[in-house]
Amino acid sequence: MQIHATLDEILAGKTTDIYFNRAKEILKKENENPLVTAEIWAKNLPDGYAWGIFTGLEEALQLIQGLDVAVWALPEGSLFYPGEPVITIKGKYLEFGSLETPLLGFICQASGISTKAARCKVAAKEKTILSFGARRMHPSITPVIDRYAYLGGVDGVSAILSGERLGIKPKGTIPHSVILILGDTVKAAIAYDKTIPTDIPRIILVDTFRDEKVETLRLATSLGDKLDAIRIDTPASRRGNLTQIAREIREELDLANRKDVGIFTSGGLDEANIKNLNKWVDGYGVGTSLSNAPTINFSLDIVEIEGKPITKKGKTAGMKWIFECERCGKRKTLFNKDTTYKCKCGNRMTILTKETVKKGKLIEIPETVDDIRNRVLTEVRYLDV
Ligand SMILES: [Zn+2]
Repeated sequence: MQIHATLDEILAGKTTDIYFNRAKEILKKENENPLVTAEIWAKNLPDGYAWGIFTGLEEALQLIQGLDVAVWALPEGSLFYPGEPVITIKGKYLEFGSLETPLLGFICQASGISTKAARCKVAAKEKTILSFGARRMHPSITPVIDRYAYLGGVDGVSAILSGERLGIKPKGTIPHSVILILGDTVKAAIAYDKTIPTDIPRIILVDTFRDEKVETLRLATSLGDKLDAIRIDTPASRRGNLTQIAREIREELDLANRKDVGIFTSGGLDEANIKNLNKWVDGYGVGTSLSNAPTINFSLDIVEIEGKPITKKGKTAGMKWIFECERCGKRKTLFNKDTTYKCKCGNRMTILTKETVKKGKLIEIPETVDDIRNRVLTEVRYLDV
């Protein structure tokens, strides 16, 4: 049984809202097909976030390619702020108007996941974050979730197909079931060490049966130098203060001269608790908060018809570009593409919005996953959450 839409169905416009087809029928009958400029922007960000990460562009452009339209956009992986147009499309309305639903669908969820990933990464600083959220969403979008989490800055993914698509090795150790079946944490760790290739780190769960600190010290003794890290995935009912648990383990390991043993944690993590844990923890498995990240409510609005500024209430008419001052970082959304525009600090402002598609043809070669991910990491390096 297949319920999910195929790429062919999406590109054929079959997932669009029916009312766009009604619009098409009416405008055709009225002989109206003007040249319009439409902007995609978000008025607000979820939970009052100050900034977002824009992704999903390359996928979205698949809908546009071959159509007689021009597109300007922020490069994929760019930082954006509420009110800034991330994509601008210019063309005859009937050429692209009915694709609004999938166009937004491609970027709203992607940007939501990448934004959450970037926020977690900002909170975790140089510590590792893995995307563990595959199990929380429909499996047909597993590689989608992991792609945008990875672009947003996480360091690895757990699902096999996601790793293949991204060209990276999926990461993970063993589930609780192995420890339950073998009956003991240390016994399971020894069995793991016997079977799993040595290039896979020895990271062992310590929350299955006994106290996390006691299990950690047992593992440190029995596995010796082979133990790379322990993982705490303590259930909420027993959690109490996870930061305190991590701190105790860290201090006991240090006391036992095992600074080399790292602490990984997972279960219900987001940017807020990562911030609290970060002094004691070396890596995180983040699941639901990434895969179920709040979507960015981008909307598409016409801002010009036949070159004349016009729009609906609540939106500013006229095509706009995003400018940034390279010296002080100040940004402005301006109407005219005036490259001599000066910032208040006296520096010339540069345009971030780039011409992306001309007469339906992509202007630049798509970037690699790592190019985009590096852009995100560079953009967020001085930001906070
Ligand atoms: Zn400036």
